[in-house]
Amino acid sequence: MSQPNDLDPASELREIAAAVRAHVEWLRASGAVGLPRGERAGATSEVASVTAPAPPPQAAPPPTPAPMPAAPAAAPRVEAPRVEAPRVEAPRVEAPRVDSTPKLADFTLAAPPGKTPVAVDPAASGAAPPPARVEAPPALAPEEKARRLDVLAETVRGCTRCALHAARTQTVFARGTGVSGLCFVGEGPGADEDAQGFPFVGKAGQLLDKMIEAMGFARDDVYVCNIVKCRPPNNRKPEPEEMAACMPYLNEQLELLAPEVIVALGATAVQGLFGTTEGITRLRGRWKLYRGRIAVMPTFHPAFLLRNPAAKKEVWEDLQAVLRQMGRVAPSKK
Ligand code: URA
Ligand code: SF4
Repeated sequence: MSQPNDLDPASELREIAAAVRAHVEWLRASGAVGLPRGERAGATSEVASVTAPAPPPQAAPPPTPAPMPAAPAAAPRVEAPRVEAPRVEAPRVEAPRVDSTPKLADFTLAAPPGKTPVAVDPAASGAAPPPARVEAPPALAPEEKARRLDVLAETVRGCTRCALHAARTQTVFARGTGVSGLCFVGEGPGADEDAQGFPFVGKAGQLLDKMIEAMGFARDDVYVCNIVKCRPPNNRKPEPEEMAACMPYLNEQLELLAPEVIVALGATAVQGLFGTTEGITRLRGRWKLYRGRIAVMPTFHPAFLLRNPAAKKEVWEDLQAVLRQMGRVAPSKK
């Protein structure tokens, strides 16, 4: 995490929120059924309905997560830390937020439809720092981030690590700055992308742009990339070896970008990010955690929506969960 004095209070609070969310997600993934009360100086450490095992290497989420018990009635309402700037106008360059100052009491993981939301006892946020793997690398200055991403794109341009290099016109690395904190990950370039060198510029891309706009983001503020950077012939799905060969680039890309939320578009995106082979119908709408710290929302691919417009409803639900997670609301339709 950055030094507090690097951050304006709103950013700092958002960082705290992200850390708490990541910690809770980790606890849930490791089978915890509640949260320990934070140890406070002079207080006896009490309760702990949680028995989260020490950092499990790859704990699978429980098949049916036990509902989180309500916070004990006696739990003191913990106020958001007093980091509010003294009535200084917070610079707001972003889309409208529900509330420019997120409240710790609001730290509720957006629940997948039909699931109980995981309410986080804010007292827990004062507890020990999240496990090491949740720790984000130090944030890079925007120019340095962009510079390193350019270097990576250049490396990818010359890549011959898998068979897909042979038929490509050019590599397709990314589009958008990602300044919004939102990142979409698709499968791989199609014919239009291969011709133009940018992801999601064909028909599916036009639909993705509409989704981005409906969420209240400017197209170029959102980062968009793919699991594989070269077009699979005839738009077939990338083979597992091709995905495996290309994933280190995406991992590096996401490490540098450090988005707040990733939307995984379609089963291939989820498979690339998590190695799971479950169908997207089962996966969509359920939060996952990439590298222990970045919230990922799997949803249907826009190309699927072009063939099945009725599924837009579910996608919109997923995107609204993303907005809630980011502390935003969708602008009302014009
Ligand atoms: N489909 C994808 O998955 N990615 C693109 O870039 C375009 C279409
Ligand atoms: Fe390299 Fe990825 Fe292209 Fe394969 S798909 S050649 S790994 S850039």
